[in-house]
Amino acid sequence: MITAKAYAALSAKKPLQPHRLDRREPRPDDVVIEIAYCGVCHSDIHTARSEWGPTTYPCVPGHEVVGTVVAVGTKARRFKPGDLAGVGCFVDACGTCKPCRAKEEQFCQGHLSFTYNSTESDGKTPTQGGYATHIVVREKYAYRIKKGVPLARVAPLLCAGITTYSPLKRYKVGKGQRVGVVGLGGLGHMAVKFAKAMGAHVTVFSTSPGKERDAKKLGADAFVVSTKPAGFEPLAGTLDFILDTVSADHDFTPYLQSLKTDATMVLVGASPEPNRLLAMPLLLGRRRLAGSLIGGTRETQEMLDYCFRKKIYCDIELIPATKINEAYERTIKGDVRYRFVIDAATF
Ligand code: NAP
Ligand code: ZN
Repeated sequence: MITAKAYAALSAKKPLQPHRLDRREPRPDDVVIEIAYCGVCHSDIHTARSEWGPTTYPCVPGHEVVGTVVAVGTKARRFKPGDLAGVGCFVDACGTCKPCRAKEEQFCQGHLSFTYNSTESDGKTPTQGGYATHIVVREKYAYRIKKGVPLARVAPLLCAGITTYSPLKRYKVGKGQRVGVVGLGGLGHMAVKFAKAMGAHVTVFSTSPGKERDAKKLGADAFVVSTKPAGFEPLAGTLDFILDTVSADHDFTPYLQSLKTDATMVLVGASPEPNRLLAMPLLLGRRRLAGSLIGGTRETQEMLDYCFRKKIYCDIELIPATKINEAYERTIKGDVRYRFVIDAATF
């Protein structure tokens, strides 16, 4: 066994606290990663607090992991000790179903092992995430990280990056298109960077007027304070695509009304409460409302390589492990610029 130092939630109501974790010895196709950094995703908070349903405790969150491979199993071929590696939102899948064969393992119809609050392929061993010094995963589900990149700023690409890149690519966002991004947090700020890099004109919708200057620095062309109805009026029927990253319930109506005929709004934000949806703005304009979930292994590696090529990294605030609970509170308040990342050397 490899003993890792970690931080865990022990119940929905208590703050996270220091925790010891046993990681398995590497199986033939495993890699052992010494974690350097782990991002703090709002999904970690939803899960730590059982907001999406009962969580299994203790729960070590964290699915935006980067580090160095320190050991490999006897049959591991993709990585060797000393390589950099990343781990995202899942650590195993059946590998044989249709989505797995298409490298869209996030929709695995067999057993998908999420990185935490899930089970290994045996269906019973709990998985534990990246708020820890080490993680052991099948090498097939680890990603290659280029040497020399700013590692702490790469970590959140493993979830915030792929979750926003994937729908922008799928809906062919590009030059000449007008794109809206709702919510300027961890996901939202990456959505702005990607949509700009793909050539779109980007409008940010935010409840935080104080984020306007940042939005423009991130590349946004326009900024709308979403709590003021007047800001939406000139936008009616003008947008080709909207990506909604909001972590809580909010009214979709003004966003749907901003879409052109036949245009789509994709939800990636996962409000624990049911969202309000009035049918009429969808009907008028034959608009579409859709969802998207992270991305598969092929697309995640593609996104990482795209970021390395274009030098697209996350804007982060690096924190020691002792600040995790404070980071949760600030994230919930929308006070994150724009991703907290834990320095794993501080566990
Ligand atoms: P985050 O950093 O907290 O950003 C969410 C942003 O939404 C906030 O910064 C805030 O932006 C806005 N917001 C928060 N509460 C709001 C409210 N009540 N009304 C309107 N706007 C509000 O969170 P994140 O890590 O980016 O994650 C966002 C959501 O995506 C979470 O629900 C997370 O679980 C989910 N998620 C989904 C996937 C997927 O695969 N689909 C992957 C990762 C995360 P402003 O201050 O600009 O208003
Ligand atoms: Zn996430």
